[in-house]
Formats: sequence, C-alpha cells, structure tokens
Amino acid sequence: MKTKLLIGGKLVVGEGLEEPIINPSTGEIIVSIREASKRQLQQAVTTADNALKSWSQTSPMMRAARLLKLADLIDEKAAFLSKLESINCGKPYKQVLKYEIPGVSDTFRFFAGACRCMTGSTAAEYVEGMTSIIRRDPIGVIGQIAAWNYPLWIAAWKMAPALAAGNTVIFKPSELTPLTILSLADIFADIFPPGVVNILTGRGETIGTDMAEHSRIAMISVTGSIATGQKVLKAAASNIKHTHFELGGKAPVIVFEDANLTEAVEAVRQSGFYNSGQDCVAACRVYAHKNIYNKFVDLLEDAVKNIKCGQPDDPTSEMGPLISEQHRERVAGFVERAAAQPHIKILTGGKKVAGPGWFYQPTVIIDALQTDEIVRKEVFGPVISVTSFENTEQVIEWANDSDYGLASSIWTSNIKTAHQVASILQYGTTWINTHSVLPTEMPHGGLKMSGYGKELSIYGLENYTVIRHIMVKY
Ligand code: NDP
Repeated sequence: MKTKLLIGGKLVVGEGLEEPIINPSTGEIIVSIREASKRQLQQAVTTADNALKSWSQTSPMMRAARLLKLADLIDEKAAFLSKLESINCGKPYKQVLKYEIPGVSDTFRFFAGACRCMTGSTAAEYVEGMTSIIRRDPIGVIGQIAAWNYPLWIAAWKMAPALAAGNTVIFKPSELTPLTILSLADIFADIFPPGVVNILTGRGETIGTDMAEHSRIAMISVTGSIATGQKVLKAAASNIKHTHFELGGKAPVIVFEDANLTEAVEAVRQSGFYNSGQDCVAACRVYAHKNIYNKFVDLLEDAVKNIKCGQPDDPTSEMGPLISEQHRERVAGFVERAAAQPHIKILTGGKKVAGPGWFYQPTVIIDALQTDEIVRKEVFGPVISVTSFENTEQVIEWANDSDYGLASSIWTSNIKTAHQVASILQYGTTWINTHSVLPTEMPHGGLKMSGYGKELSIYGLENYTVIRHIMVKY
C-alpha cells in the first residue's frame, strides 16, 4: 500500500506521529501512516512557492494536457481506487465505482477545459487615451484541507480548479481517509513539475493549523465542520489569506400536498441515506404538508425499512457503516435525545447494529418540531426527521430558520409554487422535484454558516483566481 507523502516532486515518509488508518466496516487497522512534520510542511511551502512562477505561466493548453492525463489514469485505476475508498470509508464498492470515481475524473476533465475558456470581463477605454484590461490571475500557493466523507472526490473538487487556474497546491486529506489520494501521489509526481502538487497527511490540530497560519500560503480552502471553519478563519487573519469554506448543511426537503409522493420518498431514501447520510447535502430535514403527512410517512417507512446495510464488498449492500466509533456515538446521541422527547416517534431504525464495524440503522424520526435539536443540528448520519407543516408561509419560515444554507429541495407539481418558494429560500442550491444532483458544470457552495465560495463550475475556477486591472496610457 502506498503511504508516502508528496513534497517537491518526491515521495517521502512522514516525520510526524504515526496514525492508524481504520477500516470502519471491521474496526481493524488497515495501515499506519506517519503524518508530516512542521519541517516537511515548510519544505512543501517552499517548493510550492518556487514552482509557482513557472506553473502560473504555463499555458492553459499545457496545464489542461496534464489534468487530462491525470483523469485518464484515474479512469484506468477506477476499480482499484473504488476498492481502496470503500475499505477506508466503508462505502459500498459498487456505489464508489458507479458514482464517485467517474465524478473525480470528470472534475479534472471539466477544469482542464474550463481553464482554456476563462476570460477577463473587459478590455475597453474608460478614460480617454487609456485602455483598461481585466485579468484573472492565480492566487499563489493554496492550502487545501478536506473532510473524510468523499475523500477523493473532494480532493478533485479542490485540486482541479486550483491547478487549472495556475496555482500550486498543498493538499491535506482527513487523517481518517488519506489512502486514495496517497495512492495517486506517484502519478501526481510523474505528471506535474516538482512542487506544483504536494500532499501532506496529518491532523487538523497540527498540520491543518500550521497551514492556516503559514504566511506563504495565500489561500486556504476547507471542507469540514463549522467549528473548523471558524478556527481556520481566525488563523487565516494572520496574513489576510483568501479563504473558501464548505462547512456542512441541514437540507430542508419541502413536500407540498400536490407533490408526486412516490418520487419524493424515493429521493429522500436515496439522498438521505447515500454514504450513510454522511453528506453535506443529504435530504435529512423533511417538511411534509399536513394533508399528505400520514401517507408520506407510511411510504417513507416502507422505503427506508428495506435499505440493505452491509459490508462494502457485498454487491447487495446499499449502506455501509459510519466513519468511526466516535462519530457513531455522536449520531446515536442525537437519536437518543430526540427519542427522549414525548412528542417524537422513532418510526424505523434508531439503534446501533451489533457486531464489528460502526454500523447504524437507517433511521426515520417523525413528528419532530421546528425547535427540536434533531431538526436544527447537522447529524451527518443515516437519520431523517419529518415535520408536518400547515401552509407555504410557515414552511418557508422554517426552512430558512437555520444556521445552514447549503442545499434544499421543493416537491410540487405546481410550477408557480416551485419558483416562488425557490426564489425565497436561502440556500446555495435549491432543487425542484429532485435532490442531490450535482453536475460538474454547476456551482456548489453554501450561504450563512455553511460557508462561502464555490466548488465546481466556472465559478469554482474563478474561486482560485484574483481579478486584476491593467491600464495602459497611449
Ligand atoms: P472536521 O471539521 O473535523 O475536519 C475537516 C478537515 O479539517 C480535516 O482534514 C481536519 O483534519 C481538518 N481540521 C480539523 N481541525 C482543524 C484546524 N483547527 N485547523 C485546520 N484544519 C483542521 O470535519 P469532518 O472531517 O469531521 O467532516 C465532517 C464535516 O464536514 C461535516 O460538518 C460536514 O457537513 C462537512 N462537510 C461539508 C461539505 C460541503 O461541501 N459543504 C462536504 C463534506 C463535509 P483531521 O480530521 O485530519 O484532524
């Protein structure tokens, strides 16, 4: 198994503490990896800084060629990468192979093309005898810190636009899930000039903090929790870094009485429990109109009861374990506190699965109120709450009454209702009659405490650029 870090084009062993990497389906150690030391981070920053001049001036065509080569090699290794990701995260292998790895290579391909299309917005004369030109230039050395839920996909979302735009990168995966990105370290080393891509493992509190504080890192991009975002934002103030945050969500799913209930239930089943609900856009906070509430709940119970939990290599598994024992305890805590409320009923699930691994039953909690913790806080597990609403005004108020602002969905057969409600919701994405569909061409990112800045799309590329004004006097 490849466990070396990538610094300055060389594969090296970490000089820091040893971290055991656990298989969440069994609780067994897969391998132990030494994290990067402060000295190695400094080396990575120096080499990334040195590589910047040449990489930023490499033509978009040449940068694109390297990203396309990488995408092709990822496709060639799709089965291997899917296997490794499924072992490290507990995800069903067939889902990783079908959805995630193709998403990874597509992201590199998209940004390979996008960087060749990027334009400044103007070249014109705003003052007589002078021409103004707007440029979009790379920001510099970018520090990127990722969560554990989609390790390689998040890596692609961050690295592809940053590299395409001409920046150099220091990427830190979650300490829990470094295996897939490390397995590609030699390929990155072959494809990119030394220093353009650096991959360092380590804990947030050590390497992550040092990255956020480092004066030669010009921008830091984090996918993680709000608490981490707040710490990084404070640390980034030291040298006024550019920042980009993807910090979780609590997606409302608004089901009106004229909705196609079969489709709404299927979407909640798919999107609420994919990746064991460890998904920032998971359909986890359902509001169903009072006139269809009972019917919706009955359909949802039937649908969720038959979700098959199992080992990642079992082709019939639809849902794997949670990422860690600690995270399973956290999820169980949310459900226990909800169950202790007299008005709440656990419709299905609500328990840990006995045996090895950190499995938790797919869970539906009904009759929850807007004020309940289970409706307000991100669980990040296979747990959905359902709340009855009376009218449109009330449900809009409830849906927007959240610290989060990442994603939402509306279910109705009335196009007027759909667009009126969509225009008022305070979410980075609102789906109408679907949920969790994230095309690479469209922007993904939050409002409020879900963060700011965009992944994917041309806006994701622009995220890693600065706007400059060049003025020439004739
Ligand atoms: P964490 O915030 O715990 O960790 C995210 C990353 O930040 C990890 O690499 C972690 O390192 C690092 N980190 C932790 N503390 C610091 C620090 N003080 N300074 C710098 N880096 C630090 O989140 P999780 O990994 O537990 O991921 C779950 C969270 O991520 C959820 O809240 C979820 O909603 C959010 N998320 C958001 C997404 C979005 O697109 N909006 C997508 C996916 C997840 P390490 O863990 O290695 O110690």
